[in-house]
Amino acid sequence: MESLFARLALLPEGWRENVRIGLAADGTIADVETGSEAVADEGVGILMPGFSNVHSHAFQRALAGRAEVAGDSDDSFWTWRDLMYRLADRLTPKDLTSISRLLYVEMLEAGYTAVGEFHYLHHDPAGELYEEPIAMSLALAHAAAEAGISLALLPVLYRYSDFGARPPEPAQRRFSTTPEQFVAMVHRLRDRLDDCIVGVAFHSLRAVDVGSMRDVIAALGQHPGFPVHIHVAEQAREVEACLQLCGQRPVEMLLLEDLPDENWCLIHATHINDAELRGIAASGAVAGLCPTTEANLGDGIFPLRSFLQCEGRFAIGSDSHVSLDPFEELRWLEYGQRLQSGKRLRAVTGNGRHAGFELVRSAAVNGAAALSLNAGQIAPGQRANLLVLDPNAALVDTVGEDNILDALVFAPRRAPVDSVMVDGRWVLRQGRHPLRDLAVAEYRACCERLRLA
Ligand SMILES: [Zn+2]
Repeated sequence: MESLFARLALLPEGWRENVRIGLAADGTIADVETGSEAVADEGVGILMPGFSNVHSHAFQRALAGRAEVAGDSDDSFWTWRDLMYRLADRLTPKDLTSISRLLYVEMLEAGYTAVGEFHYLHHDPAGELYEEPIAMSLALAHAAAEAGISLALLPVLYRYSDFGARPPEPAQRRFSTTPEQFVAMVHRLRDRLDDCIVGVAFHSLRAVDVGSMRDVIAALGQHPGFPVHIHVAEQAREVEACLQLCGQRPVEMLLLEDLPDENWCLIHATHINDAELRGIAASGAVAGLCPTTEANLGDGIFPLRSFLQCEGRFAIGSDSHVSLDPFEELRWLEYGQRLQSGKRLRAVTGNGRHAGFELVRSAAVNGAAALSLNAGQIAPGQRANLLVLDPNAALVDTVGEDNILDALVFAPRRAPVDSVMVDGRWVLRQGRHPLRDLAVAEYRACCERLRLA
């Protein structure tokens, strides 16, 4: 297919009618013409850019719905983490492919066209290198290629169990590597995977010291197109421990070290003060927010409005996959602010007027940027990662075009995505991925193998 005609398309300047989109052979958008006559290879109704999911731990899909049973003591992020470690301990590369194949099918059906995989489950259950040292990464890449989602693989450096360079706990043996092993792993991934972005992630300041971060970046070379992600300030306890042992707060430390720049994505950054908030915004780094997971784990609420007032950039991720719906992430993001402030429309800070529009546009554009993907807008040169909306979802044809995105975020609706294009190729039509039945069957078999049922 060389061209697409949309009755209504979300362009950088807003909704436009009768838009003809030329597609280049390399999967990018060649040209965009508004007010066009309907002469194209295919006509669609309402077209918008796909979302980039900037933060995923694929294997945690198998924990969703299994971690809501009260334990003996107060349940918290840390008791949830014990359950997560127990699952991580048992997975083989085959299990990881089965879980992530279904996950990526579900993401595409929900409107995510790209995913950043924050991947730390590197080694075999004994903590030894697999014969193929990147076997677990290849399992993810294989699943992403089958499903047809754009992948930014972010292998994770994980050295320590806590601040003060404490050695990894037994449950962390599958994650931990030396910086030298890690750099070799990234080189091997770059050699083997030429159809996905390969960046890096540092698990957290608990797990990686600043010196190791600098060594890794120096060895790999920091450059545009090389995303660097880190979990930071997710839990108040983590901020306290950092302050006690290092004399600085986590984000404060990263900023004083002058590490974050526009290639960095700070995941969660929930517990930050005003100076840290301004520092992140000024650095150009993206805040990678995961509102449904942050709610599920009791993390806290990111200071979105103040961050937007400093022209900070945010993106969204599904993290532990308690939800796979970008519109729901955005609804929770806005509602957290409203519940906290007692006011409405907290994501509207500039010249915009519509909360849904502002939230969706920021997430699409900054999500792609955080994964170093040239995507997130319907414009020449961008990758053709596109969604066709179902006009019956949220009855969007009844609300007027200016309110379409508000309705998708804030009105009752069923699944709003009809068709999904990734790199100029349709990967699903009529809301259903062609691999869904196979992916579900293999996921069920995996759960049986692991005796999760
Ligand atoms: Zn995470």
